[in-house]
Amino acid sequence: MKTTPFWTDDYPRPSDLPVAAELPTETDVAIIGGGYTGLSAARTLAKGGTNVVVLERETIGWGASSRNAGITSSGLKAGMTTIFKRYGKEYGLKFWQASLDMLELIKELDNEEGIDFEWRQSGDLGLAFKASHFDNMIIKAKWYKDNLGEEVEIVPRSKLRDEIGSDFFHGGAIDKHGAGLHPAKLVFGLAEVAARYGTILCEEAGVFTIEKGAHGFTLHTAKGVLKAKEIIIATNGYTDQLVPKINSKTFPVGSYSIVTEPLSEELQNEISPKGHVFYDSKWFLNYFRLTPDGRLLWGGRNNLSTTLDLQESANTLRVEMVRAFPQLVDTPITHTWTGQLGLTFDLMPNIGVEDGIHYAFGYGGHGLHTALYLGREIAWLITGKIESSPFMEIPHQTYFFYWDKPWFLPYAVAYYRIRDWIS
Ligand SMILES: Cc1cc2nc3c(=O)[nH]c(=O)nc-3n(C[C@H](O)[C@H](O)[C@H](O)COP(=O)(O)OP(=O)(O)OC[C@H]3O[C@@H](n4cnc5c(N)ncnc54)[C@H](O)[C@@H]3O)c2cc1C
Repeated sequence: MKTTPFWTDDYPRPSDLPVAAELPTETDVAIIGGGYTGLSAARTLAKGGTNVVVLERETIGWGASSRNAGITSSGLKAGMTTIFKRYGKEYGLKFWQASLDMLELIKELDNEEGIDFEWRQSGDLGLAFKASHFDNMIIKAKWYKDNLGEEVEIVPRSKLRDEIGSDFFHGGAIDKHGAGLHPAKLVFGLAEVAARYGTILCEEAGVFTIEKGAHGFTLHTAKGVLKAKEIIIATNGYTDQLVPKINSKTFPVGSYSIVTEPLSEELQNEISPKGHVFYDSKWFLNYFRLTPDGRLLWGGRNNLSTTLDLQESANTLRVEMVRAFPQLVDTPITHTWTGQLGLTFDLMPNIGVEDGIHYAFGYGGHGLHTALYLGREIAWLITGKIESSPFMEIPHQTYFFYWDKPWFLPYAVAYYRIRDWIS
């Protein structure tokens, strides 16, 4: 079993990706982080004629952007009902529309930029882990109809076999917006597009320090010194102490995945007869889907740690996978891997400006399309195409007790385990 991400094994970073051998000395905008957020911002800025340099500590796409499950869905991590309660109807509707616009941006990258990342929009099926969770799904579906005018299809347990080859769950709800894609094809394709518009991509160019001067910033990197008029921090789950005030807004958590070897066509049709992607209803949720080459990808966590042993995590995930799909009991696992995602205390993505430095992060497990969208949003804020974004207008929760290491995570784990247990 390999301990590297399946996606980059299946589709490695193209050897002809146009990365710069040397760092330029100056630029209009320096973007720190070469994942979806940074590359989406770069594409938008470079397309509009701005000089952009992307500085990536490892290689382009190395972070969560090539490690995720490739599931895109409507709504945001915090949940639309919570968002309406917390921010009111006006902002609730803005956030709902933003979540749909995120999916439109994916279509734009597919249709207009011609990146082939195998996006298939066949709906997602949320699955009730307990009977009480199914009751909540029915209430939520009515809420969606009343408040968003959105049809969510409720699937009782007796009809579940039409949608998924499992008898484990207590019913489900289908959101037609849900889809699956190939994360590595997307991130490398996006990098190629950004470069085509003139972005300079620099790998192994980790940024150590930033100095603010009268006319901009000086960045000290592993590849040398760069002067920039503007900076975007796009490091999400890998955000460190580079700018402590920004670090204190988000904290990293680990997410873990396994894939099986390719399944027979018969088994693929049994597991996902209509091509849905799946997730369950726990706080420590599992997400799963067929990959374009017909494997089952199973991901999740029962811990928030970023340092779990990959073999042990594979064993845990496999037990959960076989509990849902006993027909896979003898199917070998070929890859186990992990990646870090950025969370915020209020589970809302966070974008803004701190000491003149722009940032976008904290998307939780909804980070694929949100990262693309907020990368573009930050770029538009810099060019003046937009003056504000609902994501920066709401108050963002921070706590005095967190500024360096997220020492509180084990307590959060215990709290959410209990919530899963009593729900
Ligand atoms: C296992 C897993 C499964 C997931 N599944 C899904 C899913 O199915 N659907 C979904 O919507 N979201 C999912 N997510 C979340 C999603 O992948 C992320 O939110 C998204 O990729 C974030 O993109 P990003 O560009 O902001 O960050 P990343 O792609 O993580 O990129 C950040 C980059 O910053 C670089 N960096 C950090 N510090 C520095 C520095 N000082 N100098 C230079 N570079 C630096 C890092 O090397 C890294 O490459 C998942 C995440 C994980 C880990």
